[in-house]
Amino acid sequence: MFIVDSHCHLNFNSLQAQLPEIIKHADVENVKLMQTICTKISEFSVIQDIVEKNHNVFCSIGVHPNEVENEGIVDTETLKNFTKHPKVIGIGETGLDYYRENFQRQLQHDSFINHINVSRETSLPIIIHNRSSDNDMIKILNNEMLKGSFKGLIHSFSSSKELAYKALDLGLYISISGIITFKNAQNLRDIVKNLPLDKLLVETDSPYLAPEPMRGKTNEPAFTIYVVRCLAELFNKKIEEIARTTTLNFFSLFDKASVYHE
Ligand SMILES: [Zn+2]
Repeated sequence: MFIVDSHCHLNFNSLQAQLPEIIKHADVENVKLMQTICTKISEFSVIQDIVEKNHNVFCSIGVHPNEVENEGIVDTETLKNFTKHPKVIGIGETGLDYYRENFQRQLQHDSFINHINVSRETSLPIIIHNRSSDNDMIKILNNEMLKGSFKGLIHSFSSSKELAYKALDLGLYISISGIITFKNAQNLRDIVKNLPLDKLLVETDSPYLAPEPMRGKTNEPAFTIYVVRCLAELFNKKIEEIARTTTLNFFSLFDKASVYHE
């Protein structure tokens, strides 16, 4: 079995401190490839070090919507330059987050649009974070796709059915995190079980969002297996089939990673 954790944060303290063990745990659970996600430019040197030392870890480049206020708007040329690294396979995470008080709506929009431009120009998929911002997300995705298509995914999907179908209509993929295993996530499970399996990826978003039965612990890429198990139940398929399909989906979306051989 070959599972991909399409979204984790290996440079965050709790994981980076024990990275060799974390990668071994992942291997034991058949999580054989990981994408460690960039949330601000200032952390990229550490991320670069991680991907250069670990053949089965790839990465993205981008600024998280909650970091835009501190990092400012990063211009498209700067972002594009980072994509020359052979292990940078995605743009983000970027997007909108209206959950916190006093969020900077305009800054988030401007940063998101810059990332979309880089995604278009480089043909690398965009990794979209969306929290409490469904309406604006749908508007921006519609407008931007009309200007010229780009590929990407909604990560750690926990939004409305409307956003899921809009994203699929626009050719985007949807990535499922440990939220799907939470006891209070029945509504999400009802949405996800009706989505097309050939558009789904799996992720941990570790060190956050540890799935059941590990909830409360530090999340790590090995726990992608619990997301795969939950999807197997929802779709009434074998775990192996969910692993195979979500891994194929990962490689068709993040095609720069297809140079990878075990
Ligand atoms: Zn993340």
